[in-house]
Amino acid sequence: MKKFVLIGNNINYSFSPILHTMIFNSTSIKATYSILDNNNIANIITNIKNSDISGFNVTIPYKENIIKFLAYISPEALEIGAVNCVKVINGKFFGYNTDYLGILETFKKMNLSLKNKKVFILGSGGAAKACWKSIVDCDGIPIIVSRNPDEISHLFKNTKIISYIDLINEKGYLLINATPIGTYPNINESPVDEGIIQNFDFLLDLIYNPKETKFIKIGKKYKKICENGLFMLISQGVKSEEIWNNLSINTHNIYSKLINIAYNKNKEVK
Ligand code: NAP
Repeated sequence: MKKFVLIGNNINYSFSPILHTMIFNSTSIKATYSILDNNNIANIITNIKNSDISGFNVTIPYKENIIKFLAYISPEALEIGAVNCVKVINGKFFGYNTDYLGILETFKKMNLSLKNKKVFILGSGGAAKACWKSIVDCDGIPIIVSRNPDEISHLFKNTKIISYIDLINEKGYLLINATPIGTYPNINESPVDEGIIQNFDFLLDLIYNPKETKFIKIGKKYKKICENGLFMLISQGVKSEEIWNNLSINTHNIYSKLINIAYNKNKEVK
């Protein structure tokens, strides 16, 4: 039985154990997936080195800090500056960014063709950076929207960075919410208002809780093609399992099983 874990701090709410257990039940992988929650990354690393853990996911607040413990980092994770998936081989850590891969899979699910299209990303954090790299790799034109454009220009090379006021005059193909605005408990907030949302064909909200954020509700009102963050969440987990176990897994199959569990009316995914 292989062992996989999620490392982070204050993450006992995570949906990942349910997701990975579903993957194990739907494939030939014989494994367990549990949470290693600790406020000191050095303690976590020591624990893992003294165990037979074969791989781990990394979440808040360690996606950047983990990099100094790696023997290898994939080119996209290096460019994004964050790692959320580590494979352990002979005690050495090999790091990847499966959020980036999950975003690419989400673009495919949405049937997007991004070549030479303008994609506006709201926010400039880790998820925004993974979106940025995915759009660049699809030959799209990413534009970052930030509350403080001048302070983040060094984070996104060869990329236009604008303020929310500048966004009023823009139109584009896809608008991505990569901010936490709209998630619980502030579910009646949207990072941008109707006037802006109307200027886009497709909307992607990386938030998966609630299922329909205000951002998505406005998009649906204007008949836009909308997607929330659940497929990305599932896809990054599936990609992690593929990396750890050297096999190929059907993400849509897992998604169709998990969507009901995730949005059970008594308990939404966190
Ligand atoms: P993060 O590193 O904290 O970055 C969020 C960014 O949003 C910040 O850099 C900031 O950009 C902007 N922001 C923060 N607070 C804001 C506010 N009050 N008003 C407007 N903008 C604000 O977070 P993250 O890890 O990138 O995650 C962003 C969102 O994506 C979260 O909701 C997270 O749950 C979701 N996510 C989903 C998945 C998935 O699998 N679906 C994966 C990762 C993340 P500026 O300062 O430049 O404005």
